[in-house]
Amino acid sequence: MRIDACFDSHVHWAATGEFSERLRLDHLRSPADIAELKIEAMHSRGDWLLGFGWDEAMWPEKPTRQILDKRFPNTPVAFSRCDAHALWVNSEALKRSGLWQTEQAQGLGGRIEKGRDGWPTGILVDRACNSVVRLIPKVPSLSLRRHMLLGAKIFNQAGFTHIRDMTCDEAQWNEAFRLDESGLLTLAVEEYFKLPSLSELDPVLSTAVAARHAQSRNLRVMGVKLFLDGALGSEGAWLSKCYHGSASRGLVLWERAELNEVLRKVWEAGLEVAVHAIGDQAADFITDVACELKSKKIAGPLHIEHAELIQASTIVKMQNLQVICHLQPAHWLSDRRWLKQKLGDIADCAFPWRRLQESGLAFDFGSDSPIEPSSLARTFQALRESAEAGIPRLLGSPASHMSHRDLAWAPNSFTLVQEEAPTQVVFRGEHLL
Ligand SMILES: [Zn+2]
Repeated sequence: MRIDACFDSHVHWAATGEFSERLRLDHLRSPADIAELKIEAMHSRGDWLLGFGWDEAMWPEKPTRQILDKRFPNTPVAFSRCDAHALWVNSEALKRSGLWQTEQAQGLGGRIEKGRDGWPTGILVDRACNSVVRLIPKVPSLSLRRHMLLGAKIFNQAGFTHIRDMTCDEAQWNEAFRLDESGLLTLAVEEYFKLPSLSELDPVLSTAVAARHAQSRNLRVMGVKLFLDGALGSEGAWLSKCYHGSASRGLVLWERAELNEVLRKVWEAGLEVAVHAIGDQAADFITDVACELKSKKIAGPLHIEHAELIQASTIVKMQNLQVICHLQPAHWLSDRRWLKQKLGDIADCAFPWRRLQESGLAFDFGSDSPIEPSSLARTFQALRESAEAGIPRLLGSPASHMSHRDLAWAPNSFTLVQEEAPTQVVFRGEHLL
């Protein structure tokens, strides 16, 4: 099989490179296993110890700050969950971040989990993580460059010549631009700038607009990206009904009026809006905001990131808009263990590629790397096995959702695939694999 302009449509570029140097927690079978971790100097940033990938779904007990405190009484520790939407932190991190005071307001879109004693357990979800994240020193520019080069290599080796990167900021843009100018970039990259809150809209837009004027051969500034909800695994995705066994429907990170302003201003600037919306209510809500704007003759491209749960009624509304969905089939491989149990009948609208296909809506496949490895084989496997498990089957070749739409951007870029693995990767005529 030949895939032209082989495209991973949702990735975190620098994080994919950085991931290979991080302390990995995906092999832990219980929180107590942290006693066995081999810690190296490269796992710290400043005096913070960072780690990634824990998943409590199959653990015999919940992760707590006390378990971390036993091994790390004085070092601040921030361990990111496998979906990157929750942190497991120790008491030192809670104290430094001010989250130790339990009366602290949680604010919109975050959760500080509390124990029976009323004190924080050490688990922070979505926006509650920000108080910790802002204390962790930023990646120095030399490391950022290394991570981006390493990330590009990882994507190329996985078969991709085109990526859509969701985590750009000014520092990364400058580094990407330098890499491309020096001829080192072997990827065509669509860039979306992170928009954490409405107060940052104007500066983020002016950075993105300035970057667009400077864009180089393999870089395209596309727009801004925001998180409307959290992730399913940490029960932050915004659902139309409560999670099973819980009184919560998930987290909402933006208000309607704020979204209205973001969509309007971003479109007016000639850019596109990408919205992280995993839950069915999140997808419906942002669709309604776009419909309301359309009735006032304000319109533009709206990208729904993940789109893991979309109700049929939302798909109907999307058909009147310029909506493009970006799905990650491999998330099904990770989420299938608990999908039905957590979601009940909402699971019936999960992984809606077939319904999108039937409605004529545009959608692309991607990996969400490093949350899932960037891999053609995993996408093929997920599509095959999910169909066997009852998820409505994609018709035709998945490859038609794995190509960048603009074949003229980086001409003569293609990937040959045999038995679901890349055997040849060519970027602008240059053989990379
Ligand atoms: Zn992502």
